[in-house]
Amino acid sequence: MITRDIWNPWHGCTKVSEGCDHCYMYFLDRMRGQDGSRIRRSKTGFDLPLKKDRHGDYKIHSGEKIRVCMNSDFFLKEADPWRQQTWDIMRRRSDVIFFLLTKRPERVPECLPPDWRQGWENITLYVTAGYVHTLEKTSKIKENRHSKPLKYAILYAKFFENP
Ligand code: SF4
Repeated sequence: MITRDIWNPWHGCTKVSEGCDHCYMYFLDRMRGQDGSRIRRSKTGFDLPLKKDRHGDYKIHSGEKIRVCMNSDFFLKEADPWRQQTWDIMRRRSDVIFFLLTKRPERVPECLPPDWRQGWENITLYVTAGYVHTLEKTSKIKENRHSKPLKYAILYAKFFENP
């Protein structure tokens, strides 16, 4: 069984904190002669969770765990026009677990779909924070639980002193 554990519906990003100084995506794009700040929707991978093989089965199998936006940030402002379609895809694939990567937790409430209610079982928010002030932004997740609850959230923190 092939495990496709990454889904990148768009590529490129803008730096949002000191934690982005050594962004791996920017590094890899530079190696390829590309510009990581050029944000574009994926031509072939945008609907990856809905793609089927020649037998008519989903290429991403039920129960798989998929990290979303390893080459960007799921809550990137520039991706606002595309995000609703990705919610639709994740709604259709409620049998797959999606980890939404972001360094922009403050944008979560305004970007959630209208039928979010108490949160979706198959969605985990994955916030990466490198500096204390980035961590402080993530406290908004807790505040927002009252109006827009999240079922699951992971905070990945590797701390450095604020510059
Ligand atoms: S949010 Fe992530 S992908 Fe975007 S610039 Fe920062 S480290 Fe890179």
